[in-house]
Amino acid sequence: MTPDVRKLTTAIANQIISHAEELTELDSAIGDADHGLNMKRGFEAVLADLDNIASKPLPDALKAIGTALVMKVGGASGPLYGTLFLTLGKELGASPTRADVARALTRAVEAMKARGKSDLGQKTMLDVLGPLAEALASADDDPNILRQKAGALAQATTPMKATRGRASFLGDRSIGHMDPGARSSELMVEAVCDVLEGRI
Ligand code: ADP
Ligand code: MG
Repeated sequence: MTPDVRKLTTAIANQIISHAEELTELDSAIGDADHGLNMKRGFEAVLADLDNIASKPLPDALKAIGTALVMKVGGASGPLYGTLFLTLGKELGASPTRADVARALTRAVEAMKARGKSDLGQKTMLDVLGPLAEALASADDDPNILRQKAGALAQATTPMKATRGRASFLGDRSIGHMDPGARSSELMVEAVCDVLEGRI
């Protein structure tokens, strides 16, 4: 399927921007209260470049988004989400199948692990994106199921103890709060699912 780059980009950006306060609130509990602001700044830069991004085929559009996020988001999440989009751009063709997306997302999660010196189970965005890549690989491509899965995965970071990133400084006190990066990953997945289902 050849995706509508403009629709996808707009949906993801609007979803993040409209939840910026919630993300910042989550980050105020176990971080430094800037995740929403960081992500909003990044996706506002993406929207400012929308005409250029939307004129590109999917791989180049993904790379342009990744570059904007690396330059604008900052914090730990900027380079990590930058790596996500840049790797997807490198791995995907213009009209990927479900299996192509699964393989590309798996590679992207590996690249993020290398970048963050992190792994699954550490209460980060990887705890949403890693299992989601596996779900996609096992032929799960019903957007509604993927949306629910992303939600459950983000929720599942609440009882975890953070062992990477700023939240790890809190030790046991990081337990009982959802990871902000896990929530922002869930929001991006929701936006993609909304577009796939024709809701947006
Ligand atoms: P910072 O922690 O620098 O303030 P943000 O608040 O924008 O950056 O992002 C925090 C989120 O980034 C966390 O909730 C977590 O999901 C993710 N994160 C932080 N460090 C890592 C890491 N080493 N590997 C994977 N994800 C990480
Ligand atoms: Mg922060």
